[in-house]
Amino acid sequence: MNITIVGTGYVGLVTGTTLAELGNSVYCVDIDEKKVEGMKNGIVPIYEPNLEEMFHRNIQSQRLFFTTNLKEALDKSEVVYLALPTPPGEDGSADLSYVLSVANSIGELMTEYKVIVNKSTVPVGTAEKVKEVISSKTNIPFDVVSNPEFLREGFAVEDSMNPARVVVGSSSERAKNIMSKIYQPFTNTGIPIIFMDEKSSELTKYASNSFLAVKITFMNEIANYCEKVGADVDKVRLGMGSDDRIGHRFLFPGIGYGGSCFPKDVKALIKSGKQEDFNFQILEATENVNTTQKVILVSDIEKYFGGDLNGKKIAIWGLAFKANTDDIREASSLDNINLLLKKGAKITAYDLVAENNVRQIIGDQIQYAKTMYDALEGADALFIATEWPEFKNPNFDLMAEKMNNKVIFDGRNMYPLEVPRQHGFYYKSIGRQTIL
Ligand code: NAD
Repeated sequence: MNITIVGTGYVGLVTGTTLAELGNSVYCVDIDEKKVEGMKNGIVPIYEPNLEEMFHRNIQSQRLFFTTNLKEALDKSEVVYLALPTPPGEDGSADLSYVLSVANSIGELMTEYKVIVNKSTVPVGTAEKVKEVISSKTNIPFDVVSNPEFLREGFAVEDSMNPARVVVGSSSERAKNIMSKIYQPFTNTGIPIIFMDEKSSELTKYASNSFLAVKITFMNEIANYCEKVGADVDKVRLGMGSDDRIGHRFLFPGIGYGGSCFPKDVKALIKSGKQEDFNFQILEATENVNTTQKVILVSDIEKYFGGDLNGKKIAIWGLAFKANTDDIREASSLDNINLLLKKGAKITAYDLVAENNVRQIIGDQIQYAKTMYDALEGADALFIATEWPEFKNPNFDLMAEKMNNKVIFDGRNMYPLEVPRQHGFYYKSIGRQTIL
């Protein structure tokens, strides 16, 4: 099948590459000329494990193409995926301007039947809005399908090639048949397609992300309470997670959730609720708790240094909002860096792949180290903000050699307590005893 993907970010590029891998001819359209030029020259614009190999393979097999020209791609494709940004507007609601403006262009440019498949995360009723916009421009028949994306950054290729389920919201038999054909390689291997109406499909995505954000936040509150009463959140987590009604996943406490999805999707669902005179009380609490949780260790760092961080040198390991990605949108590291800088601390940070993205936002306000150990040179404390596997088994002797003080504030609970204890480190993590 010939498919157009509009928007080649984390979702669009991975979806496009996956659909090409499944044998389709895929035309990826983006307005970012530099990005498109780069991709034409074989440059993958984002970091995702295993993407590069699949990207090159499909370009070589002439199944994956890049262009800034929407018309050229549309003319070749019956199916058009939208993988466009839906960032939070000023009031927290999802900004649909990217989606609706591309819908407008599709209406103007299409010359025959199309299925417009919306992969962006959008509020209930957006399929209807997209339909209205296109209908205002053309009489040619078309269908709009909601097909939310559930991939995780860092595992995007794996999730895209082997999704837990595919959700398709459509009331058109013609469109449902086309979607079934596209996803047949998945259904053949037992991956279910769950068909539903457009609104339920749109809400499924928000409900899923919000539920995960609540689960993380619930555990963060349990962790904070553990510290008050001397319980150990690792033990509580294992005890809880062994119940298969609860499960072990998303029970890891830390310095809050970030990224391009959870914060904005929780906000957008709260806002959508308000528009219907409905208060998502759980989500409002989740948002509040998460805001505090992201910087919860800063007061501990301040306390450790007698209330004065002026001139203190803090090393930061990890800038990405989670491991295995270069995405720093809403990353907890940024909240902590901003707060620590405000308090006069000096920061040297290290991240495997996210440094360039951080440089674009905060530039030279902090220093960047080439290796995790370089970051520790003369540091008064280490702050761990991202759970990169590289940080899991560090050389504690080398760390001690490099640092001024053997002090770790761990926002990701990377080590069993006995490890820093054995090496004589002060170690403050989340929801567990502090090693003095
Ligand atoms: P992104 O910001 O990484 O990528 C968006 C791309 O769209 C950019 O390359 C941008 O240049 C391009 N673009 C913007 N306007 C355009 C236009 N008019 N024509 C063509 N291209 C245009 O975004 P993303 O992270 O891929 O997210 C896309 C959508 O998918 C969002 O709604 C997001 O909520 C949702 N989503 C994201 C993830 C994730 O993990 N990132 C997971 C599931 C769902």
